[in-house]
Amino acid sequence: MNKLTSLTLAALLASPATLHAQATKSVRLVLPSGQKPVVGNVGRVFARQIQQRCEAKVITMGDAPLAVELALAPGFGAEGFRIEDRPGGGVRIVGNDERGLLYGVGKFLRTSRYDQGGFTPGTWRGTSVPKCPVRAIYLATHFMNYYEAAPLEELNHYVEDLGLWGYNTILIGFPTWQFNGLADPAARSWLDRFKVVLSQARRCGLQVGLIQVPNQGYKNAPREFLAPKVPGNRRGNHGVNLCVQKPEARALSLKMYEEILGEFKEVGLDYFCFWPYDEGGCACKDCWPWGGRGYPGISKEMTPRIRSRFPSCKIILSTWCFENENDNNPDGEWAGLTKAVNADKSWLDYIMADGHDDYFPKYLLESGVPGRLGLLNFPEISMFGMNPWGGYGANPAPAHFEKLWGRIKHMAAGGAPYSEGIYEDLNKAVYAQFYWDPERKAEETVREYAAFEFSPDVATDIVEVVRIFERNHNRKAIGASAVKAFEWVAKADAAMLPAARTAWRWRIVYLRALIDKELFERKGKLGGETLKAAFEELTRIYHAENAHSMPIKPPQL
Ligand SMILES: [Zn+2]
Repeated sequence: MNKLTSLTLAALLASPATLHAQATKSVRLVLPSGQKPVVGNVGRVFARQIQQRCEAKVITMGDAPLAVELALAPGFGAEGFRIEDRPGGGVRIVGNDERGLLYGVGKFLRTSRYDQGGFTPGTWRGTSVPKCPVRAIYLATHFMNYYEAAPLEELNHYVEDLGLWGYNTILIGFPTWQFNGLADPAARSWLDRFKVVLSQARRCGLQVGLIQVPNQGYKNAPREFLAPKVPGNRRGNHGVNLCVQKPEARALSLKMYEEILGEFKEVGLDYFCFWPYDEGGCACKDCWPWGGRGYPGISKEMTPRIRSRFPSCKIILSTWCFENENDNNPDGEWAGLTKAVNADKSWLDYIMADGHDDYFPKYLLESGVPGRLGLLNFPEISMFGMNPWGGYGANPAPAHFEKLWGRIKHMAAGGAPYSEGIYEDLNKAVYAQFYWDPERKAEETVREYAAFEFSPDVATDIVEVVRIFERNHNRKAIGASAVKAFEWVAKADAAMLPAARTAWRWRIVYLRALIDKELFERKGKLGGETLKAAFEELTRIYHAENAHSMPIKPPQL
């Protein structure tokens, strides 16, 4: 043994934290006695995570070299956690409450290792409490995207994984425009699926909610009730929006949503988020400007019906597409909404606002949030600058999102990123951590993600790769750095163990690097066996075989 090695060994032995840091093949999970069901489910997530990453087994009876205890001890901050050495050996993860326990398990898992012949427990110790109360994610459920097409168990696990990063609420929208009413078999199968997804999320302690456009009708909405098309580029128009100033249409809308709320009776709703456009809205003389008149009016009327079913449900009013971007509110929607909210804001908890691409509504930055209500953002992490969305693999953009978040982090109470699939998993992690700690650097999250999902040994290289991905985001401007990124990714691939190397989170990073290198070398021309195979693999990972061809499905060569 040379001198350096013996010194290193002495240093390791001297540090109590690192005494635990030996790989083990067996972990004893200790749950509190008389535990609540959520605690048991958090324990199940813990066991699944470890067992899918390495050969270590998690047991709840008998002896194991390492004990990990889950405990609840309220009083140090809502949804917070503490990780500490366990008296008598091992690690104790303490939640202020059940969700705090889930986040503590997430932090412990992310700071542990899985590539040293078993499970090597993390040495991070400390207390952490989230700053933003609303840490939601909106899972768009349409076009046979991942959320509609993935096997149910896989999707449920994915939702749990989002919880580990700090999200506390899963939002979905019932896409009325896809169905001919609640009795439509397609509507029934949608409801059967997503009621299970939301119920499973709740079993792990997460909250759930709906995002709905209050004047969006079914596919077979009566023609005579339809709304005149709204002006400007407010996107999304399936031609089924109702004019809620027509008495019969308003009654129909209220009845529709009573029935939809009834569908979620057993699941329970913690949030209801009203949505104005994309699609939605009415341009008739009585509804317009929709965002300042018709929309807050019908939303306010629906709210007591929501609260009578779900008394603690919080109400969010989204302002998506209020402005034709960059022309600063020509239709008076913000002024109208401010007036309506100033007259009565008792029915509202939060205002949600954001814009496509780099835009954020100027009105809010200049005049503040109407009624001084809490502000939630709605970052677009899925579709920006790539078409098809996710068609080229992972699309991380930490610097982009740090810039956007930086404009509003001082005034936001959280938000809900817009997600179309799993290719933006890294962007989801970045936002979950912004909501947890608004000052957290996006690249710190990228590093933590790479260490957890791939290996601590490759994390520094992957941070570099992600920087290159972001520089090469524009498909028409992929630079020579794509070759370098692929070299790093190939090197990491060779160094990783099979469980991490074959996992989808790595494959979408690997394939993005491969595709970018190919596109650079082929001067942007789509073709050839390498690209064909890469796009086919992405299609399988996303379960996008039956997806709406554009915009969700990777290119088919
Ligand atoms: Zn109208």
